[in-house]
Amino acid sequence: MQPFVYEQLTHRVIFGAGSLARLADEARRAGIQRALVVSTPDRRFVDQVTRQLGSLVAGVYANAAMHVPIERAHEALSQVQSLKADGCVAVGGGSAIGLAKAIALDIGLPIIAVPTTYAGSEMTSIYGVSEGGVKRTGRDHRVLPRTVLYDPALTASLPGRVAGPSGMNALAHCVEALYAQDANPVITLVAQEGIRAMSHALPLVVRSQDDVEARSQALYGAWLAGMSLGAVGMAIHHKLCHTLGGSFGLPHAEVHSVILPHAAAFNRDAAPEAMRVAALALEEPDAPRGLFELALRIGAPTSLKAIGMPESGLDRAATLATQNPYYNPRPVDYAGVRVLLENAYHGRRP
Ligand code: NAD
Repeated sequence: MQPFVYEQLTHRVIFGAGSLARLADEARRAGIQRALVVSTPDRRFVDQVTRQLGSLVAGVYANAAMHVPIERAHEALSQVQSLKADGCVAVGGGSAIGLAKAIALDIGLPIIAVPTTYAGSEMTSIYGVSEGGVKRTGRDHRVLPRTVLYDPALTASLPGRVAGPSGMNALAHCVEALYAQDANPVITLVAQEGIRAMSHALPLVVRSQDDVEARSQALYGAWLAGMSLGAVGMAIHHKLCHTLGGSFGLPHAEVHSVILPHAAAFNRDAAPEAMRVAALALEEPDAPRGLFELALRIGAPTSLKAIGMPESGLDRAATLATQNPYYNPRPVDYAGVRVLLENAYHGRRP
């Protein structure tokens, strides 16, 4: 057995349809008396959340955006200060939660996260802020949400075209956790169960918005995926997605959906045990191919071309993704990554 280090992140997780009704109690428990509610401009859940919080609401910041532009982080921080808010309640996907993390990074206030997609940010101490087209990321315990409230009822409104890629994003956290440099047996179990739950739920989730059980299973899988992402380091897949999202403006979850089968294929021979575990959880003979077939089945993107990547950018993407060394089971080189990107661009079966 390989030696390992396991570090437990501490937060409180509440899961269940209707659990949003516990929000005010949870806010008090976290010591929040004056909450800034954070959301994206669609404000989809703002009324529900402010109703639940009642007198605990100090204000609303509904201008969160993908990759946390620094101007928005400053705007929200000055709102916190002028309202004398003592905590954030972030409701939405990774964008809303990312903004609350940027505030917490500066002034260390508690966050309650109410995730409504499968991105997984709520379970990690990873933050990211974008400035001048460059995203700075890091890990800091101050940004880890104190409490996470998963209410599958809030995901009923996720249309299949958003839920599918978002679920592939969650699967990517699980797959890379299986071959992480600092993998450990606890997170391997968590990731395996995350793949099982998410891959079984996704075809049902995209078929109907009313299947509460499937949406609960998918959100459960997303929780486990977020836990995996928060606990161990990632590798080539996340590096490539970060490069493609940051330098070519491609949509976050969709990039994950396209790249995942190819990143898994890249590591197929170098990480046989991880592939065996992933294939078992997917109930497929081969993990990379199983992931590709799943993306096809749920109508999630399978080619970079289809999500707006210029073919002329593939060389630069391969250069950017290989210029700094990082851990990956198979050594990362320009030629190998260029082939991976070529295959992903055309949506070839891995
Ligand atoms: P998002 O938060 O931007 O949400 C995507 C869209 O879906 C938005 O328009 C949002 O308003 C809408 N939406 C959210 N929930 C909905 C629902 N239930 N019903 C209908 N529409 C809904 O995107 P995302 O994919 O959740 O998050 C992506 C961001 O999160 C990126 O910036 C990424 O870098 C970050 N992220 C960070 C971490 C981390 O650990 N720090 C992890 C994963 C993702």
